[in-house]
Amino acid sequence: MTRVGWIPSRGGLSRITSIAMGMEITHLGSGSRGNSTLLSSGETRVLVDCGFSLRQMENRLLLAGVEPQSIDAILVTHHHSDHSNSAKRASEKWEAALHATLGTATKMGWQPISECRTFGHLDRIGISEDLSLLSIPVPHDDADNVAVIATNGDGRRAAIVTDLGEPTVELKKHLSGCSHISIEANYDHKRLMRGPYPEPLKRRISGRGGHLSNTQTGEVLAEVLSEGLDSIVLCHLSEKNNAPHIAESEVLMHIGEHYSGSLSISKQQGPEFSNWLGQTESEKISSLT
Ligand SMILES: [Zn+2]
Ligand SMILES: [Zn+2]
Repeated sequence: MTRVGWIPSRGGLSRITSIAMGMEITHLGSGSRGNSTLLSSGETRVLVDCGFSLRQMENRLLLAGVEPQSIDAILVTHHHSDHSNSAKRASEKWEAALHATLGTATKMGWQPISECRTFGHLDRIGISEDLSLLSIPVPHDDADNVAVIATNGDGRRAAIVTDLGEPTVELKKHLSGCSHISIEANYDHKRLMRGPYPEPLKRRISGRGGHLSNTQTGEVLAEVLSEGLDSIVLCHLSEKNNAPHIAESEVLMHIGEHYSGSLSISKQQGPEFSNWLGQTESEKISSLT
């Protein structure tokens, strides 16, 4: 099936998103040095987080075949710089609407209404007919962090979940029935505990306000697994306290027998692949092949 091509669009050339207007999820990179996920559905393009420098963001978007000016909206999940870095400058330069909770906007010094559209917990943020986002609050340090459930025109859902110490009942309820789940697998418990971090930092990372371990991620996925789940991406892996093969095998230990979709890992460098809702295989970014 040929899906990739170039068409004229607002701001220049743009990759054809799909012959059958599905939703495409592309990690532009993920980890403690920056996070950003591109969601494309029909003519709509949204970034969940904008955690690299503006130059890096633009380079990574172009690698994914997307003109930065064609981004319609940027949702910042929380104020930590690996998620918010160039969000405001990008929103101004690309004329993309900036979305954040009031808590995050306040921490960032963004003016509600004039600079940033604020949303509450469990709010549905309508971006276009092709794409809406639901915000699910999750526990993370001093941050007003949210997980995001994106829904496209045909009702299928994709989840982007990073930076949380533990999953909540509310989050698991919304993850059930998703076609795609991108979720952090931040650390391997043994590596973290035996590693070089000072004790207070180890406690913070593994505590309720920290990050999910590979085991926690495996447990969440096992709990929310459904027949309709086609693709999983593990993201926000710690470079010191984790490794892709460890995260993958730990998660597969929990879900392997019951899961037949794809399992990929988003690394700090990106973008490397895309996932389409309803498809069980991830697709290599064409500019890299
Ligand atoms: Zn983070
Ligand atoms: Zn964070």
